[in-house]
Amino acid sequence: MQVHKNFKNIEKVVYGRGSFDMMESILSERRNDNAKFILFVVDMYFKGKDLEKRIPLHEGDEIRFIDVDPEEPTTELIDALRDEVLAAKGIPAGVVGIGGGSIMDIAKAVSLMFTNEGSSTLYQGLNLIKKLGIYHLGVPTISGTGAEVSMTAVLTGPEKKLGLKCDWTVFNQVILDPELIASVPTDKWFYTGMDTYIHCVESENGILNNAFSHAYAEQSLKLCKDIYLGENAGQTPENDDKLMVASLMGGLSLTYSEVGVCHALSYGLSKILGEKHCYANCLAFQHLEDYYPEGVAEFRTMLAKHNVVLPTGLSKNWTPEQINAMAHVAYNLHHMWNHAIGTDWKEKITIELIEDLFRRF
Ligand code: NAD
Ligand code: ZN
Repeated sequence: MQVHKNFKNIEKVVYGRGSFDMMESILSERRNDNAKFILFVVDMYFKGKDLEKRIPLHEGDEIRFIDVDPEEPTTELIDALRDEVLAAKGIPAGVVGIGGGSIMDIAKAVSLMFTNEGSSTLYQGLNLIKKLGIYHLGVPTISGTGAEVSMTAVLTGPEKKLGLKCDWTVFNQVILDPELIASVPTDKWFYTGMDTYIHCVESENGILNNAFSHAYAEQSLKLCKDIYLGENAGQTPENDDKLMVASLMGGLSLTYSEVGVCHALSYGLSKILGEKHCYANCLAFQHLEDYYPEGVAEFRTMLAKHNVVLPTGLSKNWTPEQINAMAHVAYNLHHMWNHAIGTDWKEKITIELIEDLFRRF
């Protein structure tokens, strides 16, 4: 019997310029749950900025500013945040995340960990979470990862970089306000936007692609082409409106299909060398013309158009042990190879072949 994926989508989405200010009324329906306070997790970038003043903070609410730059979200960070808040105030009525993919994942993960005992390392994987988490609302402020819509909260643990993935991970509410991404620096705008582009290329090129995932990828790719290659390419309000939607649709496309070779390699780079997800994807994608010829050619055009120069020759400074370790991380993402290469992927993909791919870097 064929088993089809049965996915949970975000319960409610509001989209539009200025929609951030609807948060007060949206939260008012939830504030009486549990210990009757809201936990806000906010990207440190917004500390002292105008947006901070617009956060509907009530007496008793808890706000944490998190610097996401040193490292991607860890299981340690989630466990500590949960333990501290729980000990001080109990279970919040809800969690609100305001920031990029890192903050989206922190909000999603911590909302689950308030009701699931022990360390988040116990739940890294598919459907390992035992109980429904608490209400969580996401406000993306940089677009591309699709973390605002995906059913996973990616965490780096002592042993693996793997998501807490289940129906309950998905946000109850998302606020998509394109005004919020205007301040994203150009380099990050490029790398994170390219995550969406790569999601779509990978989703389209593999055995799990279907009419449903294709419809989202096709539209998301069209938007990406407008934003990065069109007549009015660049960081403009019109393009920000589009990028927020492209990110969401890219995330939906891969949800109904799968990512592929680039993400497998990228996870290796992130886990072993600590490279950030979107940048790591860009580093990898430029070398994958054998797998994604059209996508990589177009990606190179986008790099040139925006004067982005990615480093090459990196692997010369990597030890054989590091390359081997990265290859193992990548190889173990079986679902990605299965999608990209086919069910007989183990006959075609070996650790040695993946090591050779890393030596192209
Ligand atoms: P991020 O959250 O790591 O933020 C990147 C940088 O942009 C940070 O310096 C941040 O301070 C800054 N920033 C964010 N919004 C800004 C704004 N409006 N103005 C100025 N600066 C701003 O970025 P990301 O690339 O969105 O997320 C990467 C993370 O997402 C990784 O941890 C990755 O593992 C995760 N991810 C998750 C999924 C998923 O489905 N859950 C998918 C892909 C990636
Ligand atoms: Zn990605």
